[in-house]
Amino acid sequence: MNLHEYQGKEILSSFGVRVQRGIVAHNHKQAVDAAKQLTAETGTGWWVVKAQIHAGGRGKGGGVKLAKSLDEVESLSESIIGMMLKTPQTPPQGKKVNQVMIAEDVYYPGESETAEFYMSVLLNRGTGKNMIMYSTEGGMDIETVAEKTPHLIFTEEVDPLIGLLPFQARKIAFNLGLSGNAFKEMVKFVTALYNAYIKSDSSLFEINPVLKTSDDKILAVDAKVTLDDNALFRHKDYAEMRDLREENPIEVEARAAGLNYVDLDGNVGCMVNGAGLAMSTMDLIKQAGGEPANFLDVGGTADAKRVETAFRIILKDPNVKAILVNIFGGIVRCDRVAQGIVDAYTNMGDAIKVPIIVRLQGTNAEEAKVLIDNSGMKIISAMEFKEAADKVQEVLK
Ligand code: GDP
Ligand code: MN
Repeated sequence: MNLHEYQGKEILSSFGVRVQRGIVAHNHKQAVDAAKQLTAETGTGWWVVKAQIHAGGRGKGGGVKLAKSLDEVESLSESIIGMMLKTPQTPPQGKKVNQVMIAEDVYYPGESETAEFYMSVLLNRGTGKNMIMYSTEGGMDIETVAEKTPHLIFTEEVDPLIGLLPFQARKIAFNLGLSGNAFKEMVKFVTALYNAYIKSDSSLFEINPVLKTSDDKILAVDAKVTLDDNALFRHKDYAEMRDLREENPIEVEARAAGLNYVDLDGNVGCMVNGAGLAMSTMDLIKQAGGEPANFLDVGGTADAKRVETAFRIILKDPNVKAILVNIFGGIVRCDRVAQGIVDAYTNMGDAIKVPIIVRLQGTNAEEAKVLIDNSGMKIISAMEFKEAADKVQEVLK
């Protein structure tokens, strides 16, 4: 589950990670109040108006603007709230901005130069360790840094059972070229950040930029936080942070129906029971020359109601040109599933305009095939895995 910047910063701050302070505002009146409150609390004379959408690159798209007066806070908020913000990470039409964060200006002049760094914390699935990725090249697109100057990206692997060791935090501060108070502040920052990542059950923190202010404080100017959905039951307060307006509507509907659905780019809709079988089904579709339109695990109970819901969700994607149903009847009997498919098809009438290829294997598979073949419907049956994938390719031609 992805969060807005203001929510991510709330979580970071609750674990003692220093952040650029800010307050969320849903209209320009609230924005002005937020700016006044920030000045009362921090003494800031300038503010930044930051669009809150689930996409990065907001600055480049005109979604992050500096305001030097309360009038500017008001006018900038008015123009940013409600706009369709286009960034390299949004769909081509952009994303609607429903709220802004009014933040203190942290790029004030002072004793030393400001410096922007990049830092993320994530899991390295290859080594089974957490890693802190960091770079001196903050504030810009990290993909570009990785491409042009890969030697400026460092990684520090952290054993999850041991945790971040003090020497590792010092090494990071050293590699970032810091000394004196900024060095000490960075050690504190990294230590708090890693602790927050673990305690919040996050799967990604990306802080770009981490800022060294002109008075040598280290703080998070931006925060991309992805929480692990499977751990949300431990964090009821985080679960409430979900913003459905930011999510794929088909995925939201599927989740509400208890289906495990992930939208993809291809044209073959998949309905499968079990995540492992779903993954191998997608592999097989690809091997046969196709592209899956989705990942869909219907789970253990593939009855008519559930199959129908799954069909409806798959068909919401206009790219779907064929549907492959691949179900293993272990506890659930194949003939039951076949009846479910036939019933769903009957109920849906004209709604299904694409060919359906069904492979049912396991308990009562033979009976299931007979049921499908005798249904008189545009459903093609298959017994073998490869056969099913090949039949999909045939109907697509
Ligand atoms: P992103 O573009 O979506 O990654 O949004 P960020 O939160 O990273 O902000 C984009 C850029 O706005 C930063 O890289 C900074 O250069 C600038 N910015 C952010 N906060 C401030 C601020 O307090 N003062 C000034 N002058 N610029 C800021
Ligand atoms: Mn950023």
